[in-house]
Amino acid sequence: MKPAKFEYSRPDDLPTVLALLADQEDARILAGGQSLVPMMNFRIAQPAALIDINRVPGLDYIRMEGDVIAIGALARHADIQRSPVIQSNIPIMTEAYDWVAHSAVRNRGTLCGNLCHADPASEMPALMQLLEAQMVVASHTGQREVPAADFFTGTYETALEPDEMLTEVRIAKPAAGTGWRFEEVSMRKGDFAWAACAAMLRLEAGQIAMPRVAVAGVGDAPMRLDAVEAILTGQAPSEDLFQTAAQTGADAIDPPETPAASAAYRKDLVRTLLPRVLSTAAERAE
Ligand SMILES: Cc1cc2nc3c(=O)[nH]c(=O)nc-3n(C[C@H](O)[C@H](O)[C@H](O)COP(=O)(O)OP(=O)(O)OC[C@H]3O[C@@H](n4cnc5c(N)ncnc54)[C@H](O)[C@@H]3O)c2cc1C
Repeated sequence: MKPAKFEYSRPDDLPTVLALLADQEDARILAGGQSLVPMMNFRIAQPAALIDINRVPGLDYIRMEGDVIAIGALARHADIQRSPVIQSNIPIMTEAYDWVAHSAVRNRGTLCGNLCHADPASEMPALMQLLEAQMVVASHTGQREVPAADFFTGTYETALEPDEMLTEVRIAKPAAGTGWRFEEVSMRKGDFAWAACAAMLRLEAGQIAMPRVAVAGVGDAPMRLDAVEAILTGQAPSEDLFQTAAQTGADAIDPPETPAASAAYRKDLVRTLLPRVLSTAAERAE
């Protein structure tokens, strides 16, 4: 199919992008086009105008700023996956990228586009919640930061206003000694998750400290599992503890029912994946 008619502009600078976003009715940013263009071709999305940001210079950075990793709006999945800054400071992100799409999609698609698309079965939105990332959002009137916990508001829904653009993601470097693990089950490698689980934790005197657990594919939006984190805190890692955590996690979610994966199956996947990610994270914690 072909998309419905739309206006197209390709500005050379960010102020013009933000001015166009404010001035044009029903305008959308075009980044990698890997989600938006298929949706337009199927006429699931019919924006009146596209603002292509690919000619705006200086938006493709992945850099350290003190203890924070800053990722710009045009940083592509493939560049983030291969980035030494990410590999050495946020290894769980490199690990999670193994599950995101295929190389052709990763070469064009951007992290920021992926987060704005906000597919509930997408890996990176869950990871941003796990990492407590900050979303830097700009409009023609100024800039604000939105915590990842408040950014994903529902299926394909975010806290972005129509005149706002996500310009940067900021992730604090996890503390030294943090253990991590990301795993998922999907129909085929590179597909969206039926269920994905991510965990980070530290060990202090043999007890779990500051555990974080996030899931994708099992609700309207990615989420942290607060009840699981509460059960783990202050406990020594053990198979029994992780089985209890897994049951608590499965009880806390209300997964979607789809022809490919039933809600009951998705709960089973969380029950299976949670002990795996927690035990690997505990092994990796120093
Ligand atoms: C075959 C295939 C398999 C895939 N598998 C997976 C997968 O397993 N996991 C996964 O997570 N994703 C998957 N994807 C999606 C892929 O990750 C996309 O790259 C990503 O979802 C969107 O990024 P993009 O840069 O292409 O955004 P675009 O398609 O350009 O835009 C997506 C949406 O975000 C908006 N947008 C883009 N950038 C900004 C910004 N900076 N500020 C505000 N709004 C913005 C657009 O207006 C649009 O609404 C797959 C895609 C394909 C085609």
